[in-house]
Amino acid sequence: MLSPLPALSVPPALPRYRRYQRRCYLSFPWTDRVFLVNNLENRTALVTGSSRGIGAAIARKLAMHGAEVFIHGSRNAEVGQKVADEIRSEGGKAEFLVADLLEPESVVELFERLGGRAEKLDILINNAGIFGGDALESVELEDIQRVLTVNVTSLIIATREFVRRTKSRNGKIINISSAAARFPGLNASLYAASKAAVDALARSWAIELGPRGITVNSVSPGLIDTEMSAQHMPNRETVLRGVALRRMGLPDDIADVVLFLASDQSRWITGQVIPADGGQVAAATVLRTL
Ligand code: NAP
Repeated sequence: MLSPLPALSVPPALPRYRRYQRRCYLSFPWTDRVFLVNNLENRTALVTGSSRGIGAAIARKLAMHGAEVFIHGSRNAEVGQKVADEIRSEGGKAEFLVADLLEPESVVELFERLGGRAEKLDILINNAGIFGGDALESVELEDIQRVLTVNVTSLIIATREFVRRTKSRNGKIINISSAAARFPGLNASLYAASKAAVDALARSWAIELGPRGITVNSVSPGLIDTEMSAQHMPNRETVLRGVALRRMGLPDDIADVVLFLASDQSRWITGQVIPADGGQVAAATVLRTL
């Protein structure tokens, strides 16, 4: 006969993230084991483009589940620093790092600045990205280079540096692509092509890095309420009519999928592109067949 598990008490003085981590312990009457859900305790993560939007939500989520998180951004250091401060003030571990992904060499410098700490990285979230595009006739070489450098070249360099340096036995690489890779919007060919490349890279790296125990997946969001969509999608209301769940996605909707992929619960998933779009692509398929 199993003795009942002692109740988990939560001291009220504990910072919010620590309190949250306590709540993640689950116990069941039919076993004397206590399960820690999505535990990222002792894991270290780098989330590119986490000064705001989806990246900031991912960084907060991973920190909430115990990971030490490197926040990253380029233009607005104050905003990124604020995310790191907020996580620390809630009992999490975070540090803000700057690197401009328009300059792939600065990604290498970022890893060099991390020094020995880069060896301890377990999780790389390739989230940073920019929207770009125009009607083909108006596209300039500079536009092509800008979108592909941030969304593809720097992502490749970041992943190369991660793979060269990490000594983790639990490596997780998660790319943030876009539903646009499969269902491109009008005059957004550069963006769509860059995100299709991101998905292709995830599939290829999964094969290459599998023998090292590293999983690689892509998360493919639909419309998410961030500065990027507000700035580049003036017709968000129209797009929304094509979302099965009839609401705009939130950064946290994506962060929860990333949390799963970063945790041990997803250990048998690699080389996959996981759509997280509230049924946007499904609805688009229906519309296109009408
Ligand atoms: P966002 O609000 O515009 O945030 C972008 C993040 O990337 C910021 O932290 C930004 O930091 C960073 N970043 C941009 N250019 C950079 C550069 N040159 N160097 C370093 N960092 C840079 O975007 P989001 O909507 O959260 O999107 C995040 C990811 O999700 C992107 O890959 C995007 O393509 C993808 N996505 C978004 C949606 C959507 O509807 N929002 C849908 C599908 C996929 P700084 O400001 O400091 O440069």
